[in-house]
Amino acid sequence: MQQLAPCVWAHVIEAEGFPTLAAVVLTSRRAIVVDTLTGPDEMAPVLEFLAAEAGDRHRLVVNTHHHWDHVFGNAAFPGVDIVAQRACPRLIQAELQGGDESRRLPPPEGVALPTITFGDRLTYADEDQTVHVIHTPGHSEDSLVVFLTQSRLLLGGDTVEWPLPNLCQHDGRDEWVRTLRQLKQLPVDLVVPAHGPAMDKRIIDANERYVDGVYEAVAAAKASGTGRGDLDLPAERFLTTGAAVDDVYRKAHAENLLWAWDEV
Ligand SMILES: [Zn+2]
Repeated sequence: MQQLAPCVWAHVIEAEGFPTLAAVVLTSRRAIVVDTLTGPDEMAPVLEFLAAEAGDRHRLVVNTHHHWDHVFGNAAFPGVDIVAQRACPRLIQAELQGGDESRRLPPPEGVALPTITFGDRLTYADEDQTVHVIHTPGHSEDSLVVFLTQSRLLLGGDTVEWPLPNLCQHDGRDEWVRTLRQLKQLPVDLVVPAHGPAMDKRIIDANERYVDGVYEAVAAAKASGTGRGDLDLPAERFLTTGAAVDDVYRKAHAENLLWAWDEV
């Protein structure tokens, strides 16, 4: 476990080439686990950490959204409440039942569904920390972030990502840009995405620039007659300086272009 702030720790694994993070927040009364990675086995270091450090604090799990790399380890916390946005349980079930060949097989333990859901915002106010869980649609319908007021830290899920985000919500552009503009208003010093390094609020600007830029460039190319398979728009064109793109993110960018082409 890596310490990010006085009361925040992270456990990072590699999931199909993407660094993927689960976090633990300790308040005076609660031990909050944010995301459960790709299966219960991957959460073993988090369980060990809780056994050693969390004492009798009340355990709680938060799923930042329904995707497999954030919820497949839910079964590692039997009897613990799982918090998510209202749409999340339905989306997990749809993904588990979907006939899509590319879907991931759930772990043998199954995927425990969220037990506490909310619409726009849920707040836990403890003596030393106020924890806001905020709905931030864009990457997915049910995406949320966890804002730690006293730590001035934001656990961003996939609402922010480095070097570039994944445009997988159909018709998500306007919602996402609105979400990112709202996030910029929060008093935070450290933004921790589920995929990518912790950094300051530059990541929010970088993602807004990418989302807006990709949709605009793809719309212009489509209007001028460029076919779906002929888009020549390298990722670098939409990135802020310093963002390096490896093969995994080059592929993600190519998929983003196709998503955008189908929508504009
Ligand atoms: Zn993810």
